[in-house]
Amino acid sequence: MPEHVVIIGSGPAGWSAAIYAARANLNPLLFEGTPKPEMIPLGQLAFTTEVENYAGFPAGNIRAFVESAVAKDRHYNLPPAPKGHEKDGQPHYAVQGVELMELMKQQALNFGTRVVGDDIVSVDFSGKPLKVQPASGDAVEAHTVIIATGARANYLGLESEERFKNLGVSACAVCDGALPRFRNKPLIVVGGGDSAVEEATYLAKYAETVYLVHRRDELRASKIMAQRAIENPKIDILWNSEIDEVLGDEEQGVTSVRLKSTVDDAKKEVAAAGMFLAIGHTPNTDFLKGQLHMNDKGYIQWTTAFRTYTSVEGVFAAGDVADDYYRQAITSSGTGCMAALDAERYLADKGL
Ligand code: NAP
Repeated sequence: MPEHVVIIGSGPAGWSAAIYAARANLNPLLFEGTPKPEMIPLGQLAFTTEVENYAGFPAGNIRAFVESAVAKDRHYNLPPAPKGHEKDGQPHYAVQGVELMELMKQQALNFGTRVVGDDIVSVDFSGKPLKVQPASGDAVEAHTVIIATGARANYLGLESEERFKNLGVSACAVCDGALPRFRNKPLIVVGGGDSAVEEATYLAKYAETVYLVHRRDELRASKIMAQRAIENPKIDILWNSEIDEVLGDEEQGVTSVRLKSTVDDAKKEVAAAGMFLAIGHTPNTDFLKGQLHMNDKGYIQWTTAFRTYTSVEGVFAAGDVADDYYRQAITSSGTGCMAALDAERYLADKGL
């Protein structure tokens, strides 16, 4: 018998879809993926420290709550609670990315979601039932498939960049920019698109100075956004420049970057407490090639406004895999919920 709902992906979109599908008695089967350098189960949030903007999670004694809610055999996966955040003698910090994702996973498990720790390596959407192929074992047949495999931030690929991830190197200013390590310090943003300008503008509220490092002499960002950056007295654009090396130590994290010119051999060092990458994202859609309509960057295209429909009937897409614009945990959760409701209605319409 084909599955009613197969969900691929274990970020906010996948778990939210699972919670809704499970509560609708659709007995969802979710493939959560295996660890890889650029993407791990629980999605991009698993790379983040504190999450201060997910509604419903104000700072507090989060660890006590997480430990009370998440099954004991997964406590080993929880990062240490941040030190030095206390109020009235109690721990007081915002939920960490992994904690939030473990809570979502637990909520999906509580309603009966079946979770498989494997990757889907290919799909066959040419007929019905739909087929998904895990890395190990037989293909799984399904009446509906929800794709929630997310996207991964692009990095420059420097060894020093890798070394300082979570020690000052980040690909999400909105997630990490307000952390104390970055306050009133000089910061670097790399990129020249709308994201880079937006992140630089956001960081400028907290930072001493933001250096926007762009490899050309003209921004790719829309004119109005570019103008905003150029006119912001706290943003200094370093044109025709690339990052040569991220410098620092294990204790302080990032302390400076070395830049190299893209037009001559010049190099210079700029003091900075953080480096934020805004050089685009890559959606995790390689396993879908040729099976669904995607845009030129490989993002799945929703075919109808305010629906999670894709070009194949019965296949729905949720979260960053179909969204290169909002890219927030809470919007991913929202579209995950929508995909489950769309799948439920599709199954009801087909009498399945
Ligand atoms: P993007 O438009 O693709 O820009 C990426 C930027 O990174 C480009 O300036 C590119 O340089 C630079 N870059 C790429 N690889 C690099 C490398 N290896 N080293 C150095 N620089 C590199 O991506 P995005 O800014 O994330 O925007 C994605 C989409 O979301 C766009 O359609 C954008 O308009 C939209 N968006 C809109 C808003 C808004 O309206 N508020 C905000 C954010 C994003 P080059 O210019 O030299 O190629």
